[in-house]
Amino acid sequence: MNYVTHGLGGVAAGLAMISAVNATDHIQQTTIMTGAVLGSLFPDIDHRKSWISHKIPIASNIISGLFKHRGVIHTPVFVLAISVVLSMLNWGWLHEFNSQAIYFIWGFIPGMFSHLILDTLNVQGIMWFWPLSAKRFHILKIRTNSAMEAVVCLVLGACLYGQYSAWF
Ligand SMILES: [Zn+2]
Repeated sequence: MNYVTHGLGGVAAGLAMISAVNATDHIQQTTIMTGAVLGSLFPDIDHRKSWISHKIPIASNIISGLFKHRGVIHTPVFVLAISVVLSMLNWGWLHEFNSQAIYFIWGFIPGMFSHLILDTLNVQGIMWFWPLSAKRFHILKIRTNSAMEAVVCLVLGACLYGQYSAWF
């Protein structure tokens, strides 16, 4: 999927998390949403031509040099590893440095997960069961930037607009 679709997936994940953790404070809500949108774009750091790679080319050059696109970075195990690392960082010192950090993490991890779900709608799929299996799974055969992706993007956008209208 392209970065617009993934970004919308991140907004959906952010809204779900704001509701799940009952964040009523505007700063907490904004921090969760920022984390969720960044998390939803992050896995494509393994693709040199992705939106996020253009923003942080040095990190992308290193990561895409080490890992192939839709490889390890696009697996639930990697999301789990990132959540453990971020949680440990927060527990260790980040929470003293910035009390909002946990809200960023609460957005970032579900945002990353939304990326995996949306990429599962693509024909290439992702390795859901890595490292047990390197087989990629997909549930639809949508091609990135195709008309079908535009439909998914519009439906997602319409659902979010409906949700947004219900909230405010
Ligand atoms: Zn991806």
